[in-house]
Amino acid sequence: MNRVSRRELMGAALGTVAVAGVARGPMQAGLSPRRRTRYIAAYDTESPACLAACRRIVQVHRRLEMPATFFITGRTLEANAGEYKELLADPLFEVASHTWSHKLLRDNALCGRAVPAEQRKEELFRSRELIERVFERPCVGLRPAVGFDNAFKGAGDVLALVREAGYRYVSSLLWGPDCSMPALLEEPFHYGADGFADVWELPGHGWHENLLKNHNRWGARRLTLWPSPMPEAIPARFVKTPQDEFEINRVFLEKALEANQAHVSLIWHPWSLFSFDPQMQMLELTFAHARKQGLRPSTYGDLFREVAG
Ligand SMILES: [Zn+2]
Repeated sequence: MNRVSRRELMGAALGTVAVAGVARGPMQAGLSPRRRTRYIAAYDTESPACLAACRRIVQVHRRLEMPATFFITGRTLEANAGEYKELLADPLFEVASHTWSHKLLRDNALCGRAVPAEQRKEELFRSRELIERVFERPCVGLRPAVGFDNAFKGAGDVLALVREAGYRYVSSLLWGPDCSMPALLEEPFHYGADGFADVWELPGHGWHENLLKNHNRWGARRLTLWPSPMPEAIPARFVKTPQDEFEINRVFLEKALEANQAHVSLIWHPWSLFSFDPQMQMLELTFAHARKQGLRPSTYGDLFREVAG
């Protein structure tokens, strides 16, 4: 009997044909024998409220000498280019693209439909061009808006644009199976199966932290899998304190290290972090724990250079 997935259920609502048989090939293709697990702090920087948040976030990173990748939308950067340059030009940081204006590059069963090809092109090209112009260094990475449970597998049209625009890696696998939360601890892989062996996928892990706090006002939703592959990472209610959030983060950090994964990176949004925890206590708790555990602080760019050789 065929299993009916959330994608298929939602497909009718979205007016799309369900994507059947998503490839679940080996996730470690091309990886050499493992080094110490990298810890990557990363931020999806995407709205006007992110600027004040980034000022605080950058202070914490500089004080603790913690690298980070800031995925930023072109619109957000364009609105405050001078200030973002001052904050993020630091060699501690990688600046990568979070598209031009946060439009979807493929359908997501919970978040909506992809925009037409011409707009997808703008989302990819225009953001990278602006980042390179402002920061005067290469922008090699893309985190698409909202992310997907099947990454860009089978999306040859998007992968062709990604390559043409000059990106070397994408971080698009940001949901668990069947569009669930949390995103599991998936390993990097390349898109050779789709004909793009030079384009790498570097997944994000855990919760989109805004959902843990009900910051999208989604309320109660069908978000988790049953049975859950990570029940210890699913709190019984929305988190209330920075300590609550840290207790979930540590599950991912410790499991990644235990499994000797290439990396672990949680999905964070400056606007959401700042409204919940303006002192950024959660960052301090998480970074201290990452160091204590012996994780290797990195950027996505560092991870890309390692896996791509
Ligand atoms: Zn986003």
